[in-house]
Amino acid sequence: MLYKRLEQFAEKNDWNINKNFAYGEIEGYLFTVADIQGFKVFLTPLLGIADEQKQCIIDFLNKNKNSLKFHQVIFDNDILTVKFREIFRSEKIEVMEGYLNNIVQFLKQNGIAKNKICSICGEEEADERAYIDFLYMDVHQKCIDKEICEIEKAAEQLDNESKNYFVGFIGAIFGGIISSIPCIILQIFFNKIAVLFAYIIGFGALKSYELFKGKFGSLTKWIIATAIVVSVIVDQFILIGIVFVKNGIPISVESFQHFFEVEELVNEFNKTLKISLFMALIAIIPIFIQLKWDVKNFLPKFQKEKC
Ligand SMILES: [Zn+2]
Repeated sequence: MLYKRLEQFAEKNDWNINKNFAYGEIEGYLFTVADIQGFKVFLTPLLGIADEQKQCIIDFLNKNKNSLKFHQVIFDNDILTVKFREIFRSEKIEVMEGYLNNIVQFLKQNGIAKNKICSICGEEEADERAYIDFLYMDVHQKCIDKEICEIEKAAEQLDNESKNYFVGFIGAIFGGIISSIPCIILQIFFNKIAVLFAYIIGFGALKSYELFKGKFGSLTKWIIATAIVVSVIVDQFILIGIVFVKNGIPISVESFQHFFEVEELVNEFNKTLKISLFMALIAIIPIFIQLKWDVKNFLPKFQKEKC
């Protein structure tokens, strides 16, 4: 999360904020600021600069380390990376401004990375900016358009590839029913309260979908939800069957018809069914709320500054 002071800083300087990142530009130099494991990290792409220039920047910053109050400076490929330790969970605005002013002045005075290099094709005269893997970078309009177009095509292909949905569905039903066995046993011995263990059914269906090599795609959550509903209903019918056997009632269509004619029993059945479904579906909430399996998450991230 972005801490208050960085948000204030971003607002004051008209920087953009996106999730855990703040993005801004000072005199043509681009900055991405991220909160990473107790550090505030300032990232500046300086593409195509020579190793001597990199060393020059590192020497300059290290010479002023005490006054600039940063923790570490390194070059990660061509990305100048300066870390500030988060003391009291928030770095002071003056400290951030101090660093930014100093580094920008130094880069400008030494003519470093004057020519805007496109981070996609590596050529000069970039005319657009984009977020690439969360970094704010210079790009050519035509390069970013081409990349986005290709990613969309790749995403479409990935989405259309076989997800093994059918076999996965069979697996999910199989897993759901197998996992309902402990639930049934618990319900026989501990009665109604054991219905709360129906969570196992949801978990079993999900694991079994993966075990049967079902891949995650846009339909997965609905397949698993359907398998859970089927498993829970089967589970409830098995329980009724067990009650029949215990009471010497033959298991037949007529017996079930009689069962569903008694209002009290039907109400009880519905109640148990609802709680079981609720508990079982809890197990798959994560796949409904996480976009983890959205195909675009498997692809590199390119986003235009202005969409
Ligand atoms: Zn380009």
